[in-house]
Amino acid sequence: MRLKAINRQQLLLRPVEVEKLVEEDHPVRAIWELVGRLNLEPFYAEIESVEGVAGRPVWDPQLLISLWLYAYKDGVSSAREIARLCEYHPAYQWLTGLEVVNYHTLADFRICHKEALDQLFIGVLGVLSHEGLITLRRVMHDGTKVKACASDKSFHRKATLQDHLRLAREQVEQMGDPRSEELSQRVVKARQRALREKQQRLGEALKALEQIEASRSKAMEKEKARASSTDPEARVILHPKGAYGPGYNVQISTDAEAKIIVGVGVTQSSADAAELEPAVERIEANMGNGPKQMVVDAGFTNQATMEAMSEKQVDLIGALPERNGVATKRLEQRGVSPDLYPQAFEYDASTDCCRCPGGKVLLYETKERQGASVRRRYRAKASDCRVCVFQAQCCPGTKRGRSWVRSEATPEMAAFQAKMETLEAQAIYKQRAGVAEFPNAWIKDKIGLRQFRLRGLAKVTLEALWACLTYNISQWIRLCWKPQRLAQA
Ligand code: SF4
Repeated sequence: MRLKAINRQQLLLRPVEVEKLVEEDHPVRAIWELVGRLNLEPFYAEIESVEGVAGRPVWDPQLLISLWLYAYKDGVSSAREIARLCEYHPAYQWLTGLEVVNYHTLADFRICHKEALDQLFIGVLGVLSHEGLITLRRVMHDGTKVKACASDKSFHRKATLQDHLRLAREQVEQMGDPRSEELSQRVVKARQRALREKQQRLGEALKALEQIEASRSKAMEKEKARASSTDPEARVILHPKGAYGPGYNVQISTDAEAKIIVGVGVTQSSADAAELEPAVERIEANMGNGPKQMVVDAGFTNQATMEAMSEKQVDLIGALPERNGVATKRLEQRGVSPDLYPQAFEYDASTDCCRCPGGKVLLYETKERQGASVRRRYRAKASDCRVCVFQAQCCPGTKRGRSWVRSEATPEMAAFQAKMETLEAQAIYKQRAGVAEFPNAWIKDKIGLRQFRLRGLAKVTLEALWACLTYNISQWIRLCWKPQRLAQA
């Protein structure tokens, strides 16, 4: 048998035609073309050279933006990985013209141009709007939880954080002159920098802990408050499938016309309820106009949201929160027998009071607003319950009389409920999951943004913005650039 030998010892010089490294319809060409059409003045303004001042030439922002966008599209979110890819990957080589960009340059560029990046996002929305892909007639809004770059174990209580901070300060004070150390100056300086950064993070964690304590009402809860020494701005939030862990809540507004993201924000809270009004304001700031209709799930519909949307003349479509399940769970936890659940009590509208299964009267006590309804609470006399035969099953472990709650819809909620009973509103609501959850899934699955690489609210917001910008550009490539290329071919 004659086999061809492989010679790996040879040295070859091969000509490379950079323009031919990628095909004509490769997405990297589309990204380069679109970025080149956008106004990059805000980026250039930050690197303008000053007459009479020496300085080295810098990389063109068009290249650095295109590198990051293509990398995100490729599922790469590490500056070091991009620098490595520049050495051998044809698409990255085509972008850089076979040059290699240092990872420090890439890492700094990603986080150092917040305002310019906001303008770039708006510029892309302008292009998409011009193509007819955004109408703002209907916008679906949703929140998605993304893990923080911190572990559960990095969360500590006040005493532990104070101990760690004291130790870090002592270590910083003991640091000697790098010139007198046996190790190389570079290593010593890197260690010193790491220690100072650790000290700074611990100081920030203690400040974050104060904020968390201030937001808690009970002394017992304040004592349990913890903050992360790795990412002090991360919070323990509720992730999908009921798991708690360090993370951020990414709020994404998607225009229903072509599933384009028209607004993105990041918060530290798991709850979505307060996020709809800021989301509408972001859309107004990005597009110059507000949406005509917002479609949301039950996490966003409460009294405040309804009032805010009505004031902004935005038609709100959504589901109402299901409270029965929560109430039943609480009764179960308290050991109340199902025979004595609220359905067993009778309300008398003529006297505005309630009669319990033991035949006693519960008088009106107080009212409170919860979500989109007003809850009126009625209570039995403690003396009646104490001697009642049902006491052990009806109000176990409490010295007060049993209470019973009647929910009353506010006028706004009644109107909302009536609207949501129409077939038209229900048909619109059915589209919500398909539109709102599409970009969330795309960003997590294609870009891989299940966990942030950066730390701190400002930086993770930038990371989310890069991801959403990449998503929008990918939609432009799919819906505009590729069809135009095919038509020209
Ligand atoms: S325990 Fe109190 S509320 Fe319950 S049935 Fe008896 S009297 Fe009525």
